[in-house]
Amino acid sequence: MYISELLREKKVLSFEIFPPKQTSSVEGIYDTIDALAPLRPDFISVTYGAGGSTSKTTEKIASLIETKYNLNALMHLTCIDSSKEQMDEMLNDLPNKNISNILALRGDIPKGAEERNRIRDFQYASDLAEYIRKHHVFCVGGACYPEGHPECPYPEQDIENLLWKLDAGVSFLVTQLFFDNDVLYRFKEKLQKANVDIPIIAGIMPLTNQSQIEKMLALSNATVPKNLVRIIHKFEHNAEALKDAGIAYATQQSIDLLTHGVDGIHIYTMNKPQIAKDLVRNLDSLLYATNSRNKNVSNY
Ligand code: FAD
Repeated sequence: MYISELLREKKVLSFEIFPPKQTSSVEGIYDTIDALAPLRPDFISVTYGAGGSTSKTTEKIASLIETKYNLNALMHLTCIDSSKEQMDEMLNDLPNKNISNILALRGDIPKGAEERNRIRDFQYASDLAEYIRKHHVFCVGGACYPEGHPECPYPEQDIENLLWKLDAGVSFLVTQLFFDNDVLYRFKEKLQKANVDIPIIAGIMPLTNQSQIEKMLALSNATVPKNLVRIIHKFEHNAEALKDAGIAYATQQSIDLLTHGVDGIHIYTMNKPQIAKDLVRNLDSLLYATNSRNKNVSNY
């Protein structure tokens, strides 16, 4: 089912997973999906390695989510170093694999020689979204950055750039992770002022271990509110306490978002199903009350 259709009917609950590293077996990811599937998310998104490095695995996993697990899949697709021919070859084949939802992304710009030599058929995610909408039949979503994209010096400029994506025909947005809900609310106000009306699914990442915290904060540039900094410092040497505090923080964040009527919650699972289970269990009756899902659909 198209995610745009789902969003017309209800608030959504979704998960993000990533393909296993090329050095490890692909089979491990099925244990992850086996554990996530009983939570009956509205969709599971599968990331795409930089420069297409995981393209076949991403496709395979997204296809299995649809066919074996009977869940909606959202396949991430980056365009930074792809030609139109390569895209067509892949996009023509995806319907045969039951994939109908794509998150159109640019991807990070490679550095040095790789950047100088890269294929330049698509410069921005909006170019890919427009190309897909013109030449293929998919439901297309895009990424957005409530705190601004790191490359863009002014958040206002980033919002203007986001309008290109909307003009290109994306029908929903998934946010970069954030830890301060006010950031999202201010972002939504700015979009409203720009007359933008599009479903925005909030990306939530429970911070549950020290190495993940350091990595994620470096990658995402997300602002960490003082109370979360205090929690991290207080429990940094107690893995179990840090995990519980991370889930509790993400729970509070999600409760506030649901109270504010957000269009959906997208959990960055880091391929750790227990994190998604803990969070969904805490939110179960709220998700039900806000028309996001059936109650108690699974064993946690
Ligand atoms: P764009 O929307 O093209 O924006 C990139 C930059 O260009 C921004 O600074 C923007 O302001 C600017 N810009 C956009 N349009 C214009 C224009 N017309 N003129 C001038 N400037 C413009 N990366 C992966 O490699 N694989 C993944 O699976 C993946 N999944 C992601 C999922 C989500 C929900 C998010 C938020 C990010 C994900 N990323 C992923 C990271 C993403 O690829 C990077 O953040 C990348 O740097 C930007 O991608 P984008 O699609 O947002 O690009």
